[in-house]
Amino acid sequence: MNYSHWIKKTIPKKQQMEKASPNTSSTSKKKIIKEEFISIRELYKEEKWQQLIAISKRNRGLFQEYDQIRVQGRDINLGEAVLINSGDNHEEDYVGIIKQIVSVMVPRTNKYICLCNVEWYMRKSEVIKNHPKSNEWASEQEIFKTKLSEYILAQTIIDKCNIVTCKEYAELKEIESNVYFNRLSWDLEKNKFRGYDKLQKFCLCHQPLNPDRKYIQCDSCKEWYHFECVGILEEKMGNGHYFCSICK
Ligand SMILES: [Zn+2]
Ligand SMILES: [Zn+2]
Repeated sequence: MNYSHWIKKTIPKKQQMEKASPNTSSTSKKKIIKEEFISIRELYKEEKWQQLIAISKRNRGLFQEYDQIRVQGRDINLGEAVLINSGDNHEEDYVGIIKQIVSVMVPRTNKYICLCNVEWYMRKSEVIKNHPKSNEWASEQEIFKTKLSEYILAQTIIDKCNIVTCKEYAELKEIESNVYFNRLSWDLEKNKFRGYDKLQKFCLCHQPLNPDRKYIQCDSCKEWYHFECVGILEEKMGNGHYFCSICK
């Protein structure tokens, strides 16, 4: 099959016009020529899924969309959260939500590959590089929504996972490793949190709730304090009341 034929057919009209124009600069000419001859096979090899899908979409029989995929014997639906293999360290596996499931024909075969468009969440380990202070209040199971979505190979999906609210997470009696919570977004362009100012702050250190840490409530003002911040050791806990330094 001649794949370059398909590509030629799909060059946007604007570029064809530019090509015909005598005013086109040499750099854009080069670009046009390069784009014209890049084959589906090359896109596949270079894992340029976005372009591969764009081209396949315009050619009948090369592209199909689905509502569900089966990974490790489990059905995963559109809109569900998944863990995606990041390499050797499973602690760093990526978390995302499946926005689209498609299959695209592998060039020069009759086989299809399955790709998923995934909306990414950032993990704590990724945001503390830019925001070291968040190490104190962000939970190990906390993830931050981004506006970035990408195509990934479906075979890199490890398993389903659950994304709950912070309140739901804090109320869990037992925490499974595939349960995450989300309360904030991460702005990838500005490298900062969105919605941080609106979060309720606790303790003398004035930080958002970290469900992984231990808190004690003052019997008088009802404010919550970190054990460490008010010098309480776990052993001393139990019976009796607690009054914070302000209320004492
Ligand atoms: Zn504190
Ligand atoms: Zn108090």
